[in-house]
Amino acid sequence: MIKINENYLKLQASYLFSEIGKRVAAYQKANPDREIIKLGIGDVTRPLPPACIEAFHRAVDEMADIGTFRGYGPEQGYEFLREKIAAVDFQERGLEIAPDEVFVSDGAKCDCGNIQEIFGADITVAIPDPVYPVYLDTNVMAGRTGGYADGRYEGIVYLESSHENDFIPELPATDVDLIYLCFPNNPTGATISREQLQAWVDYARDNRALILFDAAYEAFVRDPDIPKSIYEVNGAREVAIEMRSFSKTAGFTGVRCAYTVVPAECRGYDSAGQTHAIRDFWLRRHATKFNSVSYPVQRAAEAIYSDDGRKQGRALTDYYLRNAALIREEITALGYDCVGGENSPYIWVDGNTDSWGFFDLLLEKAGVVVTPGAGFGKCGQGFIRISAFNNYENVQQAMEKIKTAISG
Ligand code: PLP
Repeated sequence: MIKINENYLKLQASYLFSEIGKRVAAYQKANPDREIIKLGIGDVTRPLPPACIEAFHRAVDEMADIGTFRGYGPEQGYEFLREKIAAVDFQERGLEIAPDEVFVSDGAKCDCGNIQEIFGADITVAIPDPVYPVYLDTNVMAGRTGGYADGRYEGIVYLESSHENDFIPELPATDVDLIYLCFPNNPTGATISREQLQAWVDYARDNRALILFDAAYEAFVRDPDIPKSIYEVNGAREVAIEMRSFSKTAGFTGVRCAYTVVPAECRGYDSAGQTHAIRDFWLRRHATKFNSVSYPVQRAAEAIYSDDGRKQGRALTDYYLRNAALIREEITALGYDCVGGENSPYIWVDGNTDSWGFFDLLLEKAGVVVTPGAGFGKCGQGFIRISAFNNYENVQQAMEKIKTAISG
């Protein structure tokens, strides 16, 4: 008899985007002539930078020629890409990261979902609320939680983000082993200061814990006082893994390329208290289960680091930041409290009412789709997330419609 992993039965149905889809479809059916503008999902809308497209084409041509064809690549990613990542994203900024500490993958989603399997089943995990759901669900699947009740899984230490703490969770009151942090944050758009991040790194060092730092949105950081990387704070190399993605920074959501940094000094412990290099475990896992990303995709990602690629990538994030600034300005002018939208593509708006009620109001009165905050966790109740990933003209139009709907 084939038994299933019963931990999957604990998972809550991923109700958020299907429920949004249902409500939008019902609205469209009832109002076939009304245009709907979607500021709900976190997918990009702009095409790939030309430098990436050229590199992509060149690499495809190489695959067509017997002299330059390539089969399986190195599991950790081609050296040409890992060297650029280490040099430009870290060393140029004074951060000591070597190419052999970089693991190229097909997405930060996979990396932040998969990495937990190299840690013990009985560790205590701290997860933000509200949260990008992958961190939570993958730990549920792995059996690190009890059942679900009242919006919470038993056994997880929730790191709450609210007005009270300016959307930066406080250090846990009890001991935790694995900590997920994401800044600039999805869904809140909040950013963390170096001092606040230092406190987390100090906690991890004092408690022999490990931080998984999801920096998928680092390319939106413009303020030099806001850290783009956790390695900007002292002592992070021993206690932090960082995940990054080309998805939002270079429009790669449909291309798939990301990377994870595991510094050589990061240590985990066995039950006898012996230390082990986490990088060796991740390399073993990677080599066993993954055959890396296709050659043309890695060449396209490499092109982001060329002079043209850097300018074009910057222009892409500038474009979305302009949208975010407009959303933030208009929402604030309407009298709502919000966070994010600066150094981040998400705006987290306190609707002062039920999340789904606010969602319905904006859909029905303005024809604008946002994401109800309650779908990201208990602390998201009362909020909505507005995404800046759309065309500027659509964002302008959406904000006009919201203004008319709210202020009459
Ligand atoms: N991490 C966060 C916080 C995200 O919001 C997303 C995508 O929305 C990802 C990771 C996934 O990135 P990728 O496209 O590289 O899988």
